[in-house]
Amino acid sequence: MNTSGIIIAGAGQAGCSAALKLRSLGYGKPITLIGEEPHPPYQRPPLSKGYLLGELPRERLFLRPEAFYAEQDITLRLNTTVTGISAAEQTITCGAETLPYEHLIIATGSTPRRLPSALGGDLPGTFTLRGIADIDAIAPMFQSGRKLAIIGGGYIGLEVAAVAAKLGLGVTLIEAAPRILQRVAAAETVGYFRALHRQHGVRILEDTQVSRITGTDAADGVELADGTVIPADFVVFGIGISPNTSLAEAAGVTVDNGIRTDAFGRTSDPSIWAAGDCATLPFAGAQIRLESVGNAIDQAEAVAANIMGADTAYAPKPWFWSDQYDVKLQIAGLNAGYDEVVTRPGSGGSVSVWYYKAGQLIAADAMNDPRAYMIAKRLIESGKSPAAGLIADPDTDLKPLLRA
Ligand code: NAP
Repeated sequence: MNTSGIIIAGAGQAGCSAALKLRSLGYGKPITLIGEEPHPPYQRPPLSKGYLLGELPRERLFLRPEAFYAEQDITLRLNTTVTGISAAEQTITCGAETLPYEHLIIATGSTPRRLPSALGGDLPGTFTLRGIADIDAIAPMFQSGRKLAIIGGGYIGLEVAAVAAKLGLGVTLIEAAPRILQRVAAAETVGYFRALHRQHGVRILEDTQVSRITGTDAADGVELADGTVIPADFVVFGIGISPNTSLAEAAGVTVDNGIRTDAFGRTSDPSIWAAGDCATLPFAGAQIRLESVGNAIDQAEAVAANIMGADTAYAPKPWFWSDQYDVKLQIAGLNAGYDEVVTRPGSGGSVSVWYYKAGQLIAADAMNDPRAYMIAKRLIESGKSPAAGLIADPDTDLKPLLRA
């Protein structure tokens, strides 16, 4: 019998969730959770919101106190980089050290993208946001009156813009696509957030290409394709992430825009599993990455259960949220391929946007409307699809639709 236990490469949300789930399901052999950073596993969502604003102390980020892992007989190895995997020998290396595994879970997450260094992408004064160290480095820059240029109008860009505007910085956000949130939201939701940010003084430039970061010793602006220079004291990149797949790739595990997993979370190697941002999984007929904390937890727990023999396919139930100013955006489902959108006004300025594909409800965005979000989520998860006209009518009571 192989007694070497389970190694988890990556101590983020997915890695931590897998370790805790394995123990709660009664896994009795060693579990080693390996993380590069000096911190015990922590939640990332507050980083670009409460932690950046200085409203949330660092300790509140940690998923569990460090002592908890020892209590659970989980060996937590921090400041440790997994440098290689031998799939044939079922071992990993961390520098000069070799550790055997029965099962390996790769939960290495992702790395934020930057502009290339030839375009000034690594000049001092340019930042990406992913971990505690990133926020600690950038937080002192957030002083009233300073000028911030944000490249990318995804969630990172918009959440950072909201924090900066709140603290009195002059913010310009530059998006290459025709509109902000292009990949994730319909024009109706985009219009809501564009207006919200403009009300708070954020300058949003869409359909605008960046040619380089200006500055010699440090960033001092962003030059656009038309030659205009946006002056900036510092620059934030929010231009997406790249999954961390190099370890898997070097070990001969199949990688295609992420470590390919089947519905059970298993990779092309039967002893190697993957979960979280680094992995792709089957969903609605495609192989996709689901970049969300909800998926990191659920997929990792599914992997843990399947290692324990559950043999249960993981069925993702995508949900996301974002806090900007006093607006909470909650998203249920994935809107990929939508062909119809309806807007439903709520009370007190709240609003929700519902997405249909071939007559089937597939997703909804709710702005300060938790009730619409909860009902949409339950409708989507149960495959129910009220007519778009009913949803758009503010006089329709949503709750009875769940029983229809
Ligand atoms: P993202 O959601 O992929 O958005 C990046 C945006 O930048 C896209 O609109 C992209 O447009 C644009 N872009 C790409 N290259 C550009 C360029 N050279 N110039 C200007 N714009 C450019 O990624 P993100 O906002 O950086 O966030 C990183 C990760 O953290 C994502 O997984 C995100 O979901 C996650 N996150 C989530 C939350 C949340 O759920 N609340 C909050 C923060 C972060 P194209 O799509 O056209 O490339």
